Amino acid sequence: TKFSDLNLDPLVLKAVAEAGYETPTPIQAQAIPHALEGRDVLGIAQTGTGKTASFTLPMITLLSKGRARARMPRSLVLAPTRELAAQVAENFDTYAKHTKLTKALLIGGVSFKEQDLLIDRGVDVLIATPGRLLDHFERGKLLLTGVQIMVVDEADRMLDMGFIPDIERIFQLTPFTRQTLFFSATMAPEIERITNTFLTNPAKIEV
Ligand code: AMP
Repeated sequence: TKFSDLNLDPLVLKAVAEAGYETPTPIQAQAIPHALEGRDVLGIAQTGTGKTASFTLPMITLLSKGRARARMPRSLVLAPTRELAAQVAENFDTYAKHTKLTKALLIGGVSFKEQDLLIDRGVDVLIATPGRLLDHFERGKLLLTGVQIMVVDEADRMLDMGFIPDIERIFQLTPFTRQTLFFSATMAPEIERITNTFLTNPAKIEV
């Protein structure tokens, strides 16, 4: 498979070429076509497999048509730690650099003020740790009813850190009609339960 066979937005392909990527990794080759068709994806993959691009590239492609609205992000990416969320945000900037899409990174240790300003103005993608996202929501600053695509990254680490109740709550705040891209290195029983509850007929990809 080549990136150019994957039906990605040409502006995404351009950024991927500039990043120096020649061929999609196995998780990318398998997940991207399903994600672009609008299917839910359950990816069993470790870091280092290219899984970040496997959800970010189709997400950018799917969002490239519409535009951001105040306080209503169109897409949500949840990561277990500040560092991982920041890495996803960096990847997003790299792959979306030729598009007009905008993002906000919501992590602890940063003042709410700056994050509020971005949310008020309207962002396409929110990249967040679960606790910080719920803090914003509870302050009444944020609506999740416009979320079309929700990504859960490193669900097994979310489980280790006790974030599963937060994840369930966040799933319940987003529309039933959302598309869900869910990644975990392992399938613990609790992870399996969450995916059975919140994913619809997912394409299961194991690398
Ligand atoms: P990840 O598993 O998402 O943390 O990605 C691991 C590393 O692989 C990151 O440094 C990416 O920039 C890089 N990467 C992702 N996809 C590709 C690709 N198709 N070709 C070469 N490098 C890649």
